[in-house]
Amino acid sequence: MSMNSVGRPTRPEAAAPAQAAGVPATLSGGRGLLQDEALIFELGGWEKTGVDLPNVDPDGLDLGDLVRTAPIGLPGLSEPEAMRHYVRLSQKNHAIDLALYPLGSCTMKHNPRLNEKMARLPGFSDIHPLQPQSTVQGALALMDRLAHWLKTLTGMPAVALSPKAGAHGELCGLLAIRAAHEAKGDARKRVLVPTSAHGTNPATAAFVGYAVEEIAQTEDGRVDLADLEAKLGPDVAAIMVTNPNTCGLFERDIVEIARLTHAAGAYFYCDGANFNAIVGRVRPADLGVDAMHINLHKTFSTPHGGGGPGAGPVVLSDALAPYAPTPWIVHGEDGFALVEAPEGPAERAFGRMSAFHGQMGMYVRALAYMMSHGADGLRQAAEDAVLNANYIKARLQDVMTPAFPEGPCMHEALFDDAWLDGTGVTTLDFAKAMIDEGFHPMTMYFPLVVHGAMLIEPTETEPKHELDRFCDTLRLLAEAAKAGDAERFKGAPFHAPLRRLDETLAARKPKLRWRPEAALAQAAE
Ligand SMILES: *Cc1c(COP(=O)(O)O)cnc(C)c1O
Repeated sequence: MSMNSVGRPTRPEAAAPAQAAGVPATLSGGRGLLQDEALIFELGGWEKTGVDLPNVDPDGLDLGDLVRTAPIGLPGLSEPEAMRHYVRLSQKNHAIDLALYPLGSCTMKHNPRLNEKMARLPGFSDIHPLQPQSTVQGALALMDRLAHWLKTLTGMPAVALSPKAGAHGELCGLLAIRAAHEAKGDARKRVLVPTSAHGTNPATAAFVGYAVEEIAQTEDGRVDLADLEAKLGPDVAAIMVTNPNTCGLFERDIVEIARLTHAAGAYFYCDGANFNAIVGRVRPADLGVDAMHINLHKTFSTPHGGGGPGAGPVVLSDALAPYAPTPWIVHGEDGFALVEAPEGPAERAFGRMSAFHGQMGMYVRALAYMMSHGADGLRQAAEDAVLNANYIKARLQDVMTPAFPEGPCMHEALFDDAWLDGTGVTTLDFAKAMIDEGFHPMTMYFPLVVHGAMLIEPTETEPKHELDRFCDTLRLLAEAAKAGDAERFKGAPFHAPLRRLDETLAARKPKLRWRPEAALAQAAE
């Protein structure tokens, strides 16, 4: 068996071939038509290669003692072997193109292929950020158009396009807020964050140097206004509130939240990750928001879930716009231009968020999504996302316990684990059993304020019969749990290519490096 550099087996399954009672282990490690797959370094030898290069005479080169003498150590695979390796791996992964992907707070919706086609147009994909601006006028025009629609949809006067993810957008927003306070000579110290916030909110505030303080939540899952009012004060720089919040609920008092915040001289940062639920229905500017990131990879459907790339443009109010980071686009006599080194009043820009201008491919996909939907289509997408989540809540609320049973939810249906009491089954076990039934689990144990949380976000792109299949399956599983069939859950997943892994160890001590066994043996000597 192969080991990685710290002696952990690279095939955890082979190390512990636990099997369901009565289900024989396969002889090869494969399952059904899914073949067992080794690491690419373990496949083939180093002597092969997929390309045919002429031999070179090292003496004729000018490399001196830089000429490589040892093997390069790259896996030697022919083209079909390399293809098979990656296609097999891809089949072990879940994807939105395979089935429902109900991860709450992630908005895993279908990515229209039209977006992909647009993003591959050579004028957008085969350009370089250092090219003369006169040769990339189309790309700049596209960014300008995207900026226009982001401002229009949010009602905000300015947008910084360059942040590369939601969390990066939070950093951008808080840096603008800090710059605005500093410009007034006002060194504020605290940022208030509700208890249900996504972990990136307090992490960002702490990263920027603020002390983070929690705002309590009401019984019905909203910001506790009395607690907010008590904690606001002359040293509070900003509040960071998600709307709809991570419990999938609209913050009913949002206008009052903004008023109280502004009265205390603080800014209102809105985490816009859930914009998909309200786009076309509500403009954040009308709610009193000063800064909000928009996860293009969530609301405007660019692929994510495999690690990106994402894009997190930040819209800014009049108060914060002067501090927006460079670059931005202006439209002058000679066409579009990127302002990299602002002069005059624009010199207040706090700096930059990335080396160049952000994720061009994501801009193209997001604009293609917006333009193909139109104003009515975007609004309907938001409405359908909310309708789908409420359908799930309605179909499951007699067998599972909704965390906030009163009233409708927004785009996510949130359940707690009270209904599993006494069954011996946990949220984690239940989620693993869903994998056996062919469904990707929902988001588990988030938000932290709800015990054993199960956060289901179906998105607008699921048709009713898919939602029914999903709900029917969850109902059957829920009944099995309540009927005392804990075994089905405790050992799950039984049918996945890999069985249950030690996720805590994997997250806390990831072992990402592989070294050949020969090198390991040497190191041990
Ligand atoms: C996804 C998400 C974020 C972070 O966005 P990334 O693009 O993953 O950095 C922040 N807040 C909430 C509520 C989110 O759902």
